[in-house]
Amino acid sequence: MSTLYDLDRPGLAGLLADQVGDLPPYREAQVWDGLYRQARLPAEMTDLPRELRQRLTEVAPPALSLVSEAVADGGLTVKSLWAGAGDARVESVLMHYPQRSTVCVSSQAGCAMGCGFCATGQAGFQRHLSAGEIVEQVMAAVRRARPRRVGNVVLMGMGEPLANYDEVWRALRRLHTDVGLSARHLTISTVGLVHGIRRMAAEPEPVNLAVSLHAARDELRDQLVPINRRHPLEELLAACTDYRRAKGRRLSFEWALIDGVNDTGRDATELAAVARPLGAHVNLIPLNPTPGWPTRGTAAPRVAAFAHDLQRLGVNATVRRNRGTDIAAACGQLAAQRPVALELRPRRTGGRPGDPAVAHPAGIAGPVEPVRFGPEVLPH
Ligand code: SF4
Repeated sequence: MSTLYDLDRPGLAGLLADQVGDLPPYREAQVWDGLYRQARLPAEMTDLPRELRQRLTEVAPPALSLVSEAVADGGLTVKSLWAGAGDARVESVLMHYPQRSTVCVSSQAGCAMGCGFCATGQAGFQRHLSAGEIVEQVMAAVRRARPRRVGNVVLMGMGEPLANYDEVWRALRRLHTDVGLSARHLTISTVGLVHGIRRMAAEPEPVNLAVSLHAARDELRDQLVPINRRHPLEELLAACTDYRRAKGRRLSFEWALIDGVNDTGRDATELAAVARPLGAHVNLIPLNPTPGWPTRGTAAPRVAAFAHDLQRLGVNATVRRNRGTDIAAACGQLAAQRPVALELRPRRTGGRPGDPAVAHPAGIAGPVEPVRFGPEVLPH
């Protein structure tokens, strides 16, 4: 059965013809407009006859059903847990800011990349999400955000977007073309899949590229981000250089600051040496607590010192204040936990190796709020 947002326009026309029967041609346009421009579910499309609304709901149901929702930061951060086919569980996080709202969505249920500090990585891979499932998370956020407007979409939720390239790109095209979001407000965050970055460089849409770097020497990055053993820094940075040249978009590097691991003066110097030639902006994110990682995030004074080191070395850096930590909605914490795990009880930083856990994003505009250090910062 087709799901609501997996259909492209010809697919919707075919479905209406096969499952509903003769309709005036303008009905297809009404349904499409209702789904994408107005972000309405069929039952809410009151400009359609009631029988058509009911039939649409039967033949093209949503792919995801809401399992639970947790709210933090006085209502400014909302984490949603979704269930999809095959008992897939994914999470999305909606963040409200004064000027706009941002939604961070998942591209896979689980993740195969195995970054040890990340709750999603700790849980392993379940399956890829379809383009429709990715779009559906965005459209649900658009409805949930009203009367605010969702202006930015970041693929920094669960999963490695470039490991699910075709479906992710179909989703981005749909968001750009049919929903009307500018490609410049769409961000893909990758842990460093070089072939995917090179494919992105050949696409017409200039989406933002964020690379979850976390270490600027292979010896350390091999440990933090296992994909580095296949695509070491030299190869990754060459792909970043080419992407920047091809798209003219500023890159950003994500750096989860881990106490005593990648927050030293040496680390700042090495990071500056790779960021400066690329003109990359650095987003610093004190590591969020996950039960399966035995170290903890860098303390605030050291975070500030690291940021100032970068500034002094000529790199623009933003320190992000974590949002949603107490509902496990912050960067690296998304775990598609069962509702019982969405408790609002504060967690202690750190944990024991082997504890159950899960989450992504060392990504960019994760559930965080920027604290500005430099004269120039990224918009998210
Ligand atoms: S940080 Fe991203 S790429 Fe690494 S395991 Fe987590 S979700 Fe996967």
